[in-house]
Amino acid sequence: MKLIDGKSIAATVKSEIAKEVANMMDTDQKAPHLAAVLVGNDPASETYVASKERACKEVGFISSIYKLSEKTTEKELLKTIEFLNNDEEIDGYIVQLPLPKHIDTNKIIFAIDPKKDVDGFHPQNVGRMVMDMPCFLPATPAGIMTLLERSGIETEGKNCVVLGRSNIVGTPVAILLSRNSKKANGTVTLCHSRTKNLKEICLTADILIAAIGKAEFVTADMVKDQAVVIDVGIHRISDNSEKGYKIVGDVKFDEVSKKCSHITPVPGGVGPMTIVSLLENTLKAAKIQQKSEL
Ligand code: NAP
Repeated sequence: MKLIDGKSIAATVKSEIAKEVANMMDTDQKAPHLAAVLVGNDPASETYVASKERACKEVGFISSIYKLSEKTTEKELLKTIEFLNNDEEIDGYIVQLPLPKHIDTNKIIFAIDPKKDVDGFHPQNVGRMVMDMPCFLPATPAGIMTLLERSGIETEGKNCVVLGRSNIVGTPVAILLSRNSKKANGTVTLCHSRTKNLKEICLTADILIAAIGKAEFVTADMVKDQAVVIDVGIHRISDNSEKGYKIVGDVKFDEVSKKCSHITPVPGGVGPMTIVSLLENTLKAAKIQQKSEL
C-alpha cells in the first residue's frame, strides 16, 4: 500500500505558487490578495480561516479577514460582499460557511462576483465547470484531482465510486472525474443516503472517494483489493491520548489500508490540498484582475 502524501504534494504546489508570486513582484505586479469573510465564532470556521491566512503568508499572498458578529444581518453581509466585489485591491474572496441560520446562504453566494469567487460556489462557476469552460473549481474536488494526477493514478476508464453528493465535494468531484479529458475519463457512480446495495457498489470501485461525513464508515469489506481510496472526511473523536481526541476520516484506515493500493491519510491527505487549490484559484483570480492572463 502506498500512502498518498497530501502534505508533501501540497508543499510542492505551494512552492510553485510562491515562485509565480515572486515573478509577479519582479515584474511590478502586486501580490495576489485573498480575503475571507467570517461571520460568528464557530471554532472550526475560525481554525479554517486561520490556516488559510497562514497558507497565504507562506506563498507571499496578501490576506485579510473580515470578522463579522454572529448577529450580522443578511443586509449587512450583502454590503460587505458589495464592498469586496468593488475593491480593486482584492483579487478573490471566500465567505466561510456555514453561515448563521438567519442568513440565506444561496443569496450570499449569488451576490459574489463570479470573477472573485475563488471557492467556486457561484452558479456561474458551477455551470462553467459542468460545461468544461474556464472557471474557478471548488477547492476540495480540485485538490482531489490534483492528488490523483500528481500521484500518477490513472483515472481513464476506471470505475470511480463517490460516496456523498454534497454541492461542495461529492457532486463536483463526480463531475470532474467523468470529464472528457485524459486526466479524468472515469466511469462514475455517485452514491448517497438513498443508494441501495452500497457495499456492492463500493466493491466495484477502482477508485473510491469517501465524502460521507460519517467517521470510519468505509470498512475493509466494502473495498476491492488494490483499490485507490481517497478519504475526504474529517472527524474529531475522543480517545485516551494526551490530547483526549484523534482525527479520523470517513474510512477505517487501519483495516482498509491493508487492502488498497493507495490511500490518503487523515489528517495529511485531502485537507492540505483543499487550501492549496484555494491558493491556485486566488493566483488565477489575480492574473484575471491584473489582466496578465485571461
Ligand atoms: P455533507 O454535506 O454532510 O454530505 C454528506 C453526503 O453523504 C450526503 O450526500 C449524504 O446523502 C451522504 N450520506 C450520508 N450518510 C450516508 C449513508 N449512510 N450512505 C450513503 N450516503 C450517505 O458532507 P460534505 O460537506 O460533503 O463533507 C463530507 C465530509 O468531508 C465531512 O466529514 C466533512 O467534514 C469533510 N470535508 C473535508 C474537507 C477537506 O478539506 N478535507 C472539505 C470539505 C468537507 P444525502 O444527500 O442523501 O443526505
